[in-house]
Amino acid sequence: MRILVAVKRVADFNARIRVNAEGTGVDLSNVKMAMNPFDEIAVEAALRLREAGAASEVVVVSVGEASVSEAVRAAFAMGADRGIVVRADGRVEPLAVAKILAAIAKREEAGLVILGKQAIDDDANQTGQMLAALAGWPIATFASEITIDGAALTVTREIDGGHETLRMAMPAVVTADLRLNQPRYASLPNIMKAKKKPIDEMTVGDLGIDTAPRLRVLKVAPPADRKAGVKVSSATELVERLRAETGVL
Ligand code: AMP
Repeated sequence: MRILVAVKRVADFNARIRVNAEGTGVDLSNVKMAMNPFDEIAVEAALRLREAGAASEVVVVSVGEASVSEAVRAAFAMGADRGIVVRADGRVEPLAVAKILAAIAKREEAGLVILGKQAIDDDANQTGQMLAALAGWPIATFASEITIDGAALTVTREIDGGHETLRMAMPAVVTADLRLNQPRYASLPNIMKAKKKPIDEMTVGDLGIDTAPRLRVLKVAPPADRKAGVKVSSATELVERLRAETGVL
């Protein structure tokens, strides 16, 4: 069975993000980029399934400008076997990515597609769900455990107040949550091998997919600066201030 993993290249989670001068997006010049952290967890999950003998190949796919191949190479350095880059310029919305992934999953005859639960740049949390709907496959979002037993997939999901365990047929879609695993560090032999592994490059045009935006960004603004705190000298003063400033006590 082949597992497809979707990896997005995003601003590193530690990077300081600045809104651009026009207020239409963020300024990514000179910002360190990295694989979306939830996608690293998705790659790790796929590698563990391959190592357990439940899958024969892990193929990673990334959609975007030429530089997204760096996310694919980072997945190679973890141990992924093969990569696909689908070139698309500008902002690619979750629906467009989902259409592309649906086309690739069918073409690759993937038995399982694993995605991150969300990309930490736009925080959409939509692509996996849209992919499952377009492909007509079952989905388990927010996975904290994945097991494959023959043709059956069992996924434990993190839900409000606990866990839910689902069993479904494959092909299926799973989105990875934080506690699914701890991604491995790239090993030196894999880093060396990563340079030589093949990346199949294609364009959205080759796939015949319409990626025209459905959304218009009206405005992007940084969060308001936090006001400086005030030190109070006693609990009585604290209560008085809260009463005066919030009116709730
Ligand atoms: P989102 O719905 O944008 O929050 O993204 C959820 C997941 O979809 C990500 O964690 C990735 O696994 C996948 N994904 C989103 N955008 C891309 C992209 N441009 N290329 C590859 N995978 C993507």
